[in-house]
Amino acid sequence: MAQRHPEAEARLLVKWVCMKCSATVRAHGGVKPPKSCRKCGYTGFRKKAAERRTT
Ligand SMILES: [Zn+2]
Repeated sequence: MAQRHPEAEARLLVKWVCMKCSATVRAHGGVKPPKSCRKCGYTGFRKKAAERRTT
């Protein structure tokens, strides 16, 4: 699939990575970051592109 869908990627393929412990948190239905890391409670996140699932 060479075609890219920026809208779909922004909506569905977004993960957040804790900048303290590097835990990944998947954004739930949006691009807003989680309030805090579920592991360490840190509130700093960076965006990460998630891999596309084929099925
Ligand atoms: Zn963390």
